[in-house]
Amino acid sequence: MSAETKEKPATNEGFSGEQKSYLEGLVSGLQAKRAASGLKPIGEGGGGAPVGPDAEHLKAQSKTEASGKKLVDPEKWKREEHPFDAYARLNEQAAKNEYPKPADNFRWRYYGLFYVAPAQDSYMCRLRIPNGILSAAQFEGVARIAEDFGGGYAHVTTRANLQIREIEAANAVNVVEGIQELGLTSRGSGADNIRNVTGTPTAGIDPRELLDTRPYAKSWHYHVLNDRSLTGLPRKFNVAFDGAGTVAALEETNDIGFSAIEVTEGASVPAGIYFRLVLGGITGHHDIARDTGVVLVPGDATKVADAIVRVFVENGDRTNRNKARLKYVLDDWGFDKFLAAVEEKLGRKLDRVDTGHVKPRAEADRMAHLGVHAQKQEGLNWIGLVLQTGKLTVDQMKGIAAIARDLGDGDIRLSVWQNLLISGVPDEKVTEAVSRIEGLGLSTKATAIRAGLVACTGNTGCKFAAANTKGTAEAIATHVESKLELDKPVNIHLTGCHHSCAQHYIGDIGLIACQVPVNDDGDTVEGFHMVVGGGTGGNAKIGRELLRDVKKEDCPQKVEQLLRAYLANRQDEDELFFS
Ligand code: SF4
Repeated sequence: MSAETKEKPATNEGFSGEQKSYLEGLVSGLQAKRAASGLKPIGEGGGGAPVGPDAEHLKAQSKTEASGKKLVDPEKWKREEHPFDAYARLNEQAAKNEYPKPADNFRWRYYGLFYVAPAQDSYMCRLRIPNGILSAAQFEGVARIAEDFGGGYAHVTTRANLQIREIEAANAVNVVEGIQELGLTSRGSGADNIRNVTGTPTAGIDPRELLDTRPYAKSWHYHVLNDRSLTGLPRKFNVAFDGAGTVAALEETNDIGFSAIEVTEGASVPAGIYFRLVLGGITGHHDIARDTGVVLVPGDATKVADAIVRVFVENGDRTNRNKARLKYVLDDWGFDKFLAAVEEKLGRKLDRVDTGHVKPRAEADRMAHLGVHAQKQEGLNWIGLVLQTGKLTVDQMKGIAAIARDLGDGDIRLSVWQNLLISGVPDEKVTEAVSRIEGLGLSTKATAIRAGLVACTGNTGCKFAAANTKGTAEAIATHVESKLELDKPVNIHLTGCHHSCAQHYIGDIGLIACQVPVNDDGDTVEGFHMVVGGGTGGNAKIGRELLRDVKKEDCPQKVEQLLRAYLANRQDEDELFFS
């Protein structure tokens, strides 16, 4: 601003009558908007800081309050102060090396920070990485942050994301801001927000894909990041985009799943590639997302997802955390009523296509996220690395970044299978890339047991866990590999509590942690209940419980017995596990 401009008084003097009336109208319109959003009027010290939640939330919350039911604590905390208005206090706590009390512990999750005591007396920070794809420089940057401010390692999560652990309170802001300086963010990756947007990890390079999910995942990611009224939902919310590629994105486990399909001639819409909309996936509550029959042109995905979320924001249950997910609105209303509300928000009807006009989709290849695979770009390959239930040291991360930069196209692609792919590796550089990966103590080849081995954080880092999930997963893999040779991959998912971050209900074999009673005095030891027969993709289904209270140390043998029973009793090699 020039000195001349600065000197002009901020009044309406010097304007014509018409200009003055325009300005007055503008100001009164702004005042009305601020009032509706819970902001102080201009001129009353409102500054830029909103007080209380956003307008959309107030509307939704007043509906809940009108029900006369008691609000849960997180809802009270949301009303007291929007977490994005409390960043100065996070800074103050970091300056004092102080961890938060429960209300702020909830709020800091809006910044991706989770204080995880008593499992670890430190923060965990979870990023947001749309479609799970980041550059080698960003990946190396995350490694440096984990080295300087965390425990020297990171985990690839089941939402194709990264988590840094063992962050001291003093370093909380360093981590949040360090991530932003890399062109990444951790915003909204925890609490009642829309979580990391997943997509097909081989998007844009997969010879089989119907469409490249990256632009749609990115569009939704930035839409959510830049609209505060899409934060503070009744509970967390998951959205996934699947391009019908070789590696599954597991969209059927999300609140909203967009599955690429090909519509044939004679349908109610022109033949071509669309997203089919599935809704209400939440496997921990025994539900796979259900097909709505709705199809949409891919470019409409963000608009439609926005309308769905807003219907949920207004009507989700804010008085019972166990019933606060989208599934319960769908169960209460039925799909017809819900979709009618979405159409009202959108201001138009959605297209429906019957399954008879949709070409069947090929099943995902359960091994394609590992090893060397030809891309649709001639002469180029993706290489999938095996990680031990997602864990990477910072040295391994730096080494992977260097390989992606030196020998690949510079992208690192995380998958929901807790592993990563390096893409764009020319044929003549594959051998060197594999050898450098092995030099990092990692591998590109997995046994049929390890390829689909997934485990949540467990009790070494999560206060909700009843047992050590990652350690038990490793013990199962080591034991079964020494006893059995399987002729097809098997998915084994271990989860530490009912939150089901590792989605045990969709595993061929799923384990959920529990405390196993060992005597009449109430003493317990770590253990698991076992579920069998879950599935994904075209075979998506919730498994059924088979065994209860198996002690942790007995799990490897029990899994071996289950697999032997399957091998002995199946009709043929194509029979699904425990179907
Ligand atoms: Fe923690 Fe439970 Fe999620 Fe495992 S499933 S990471 S124990 S919240």
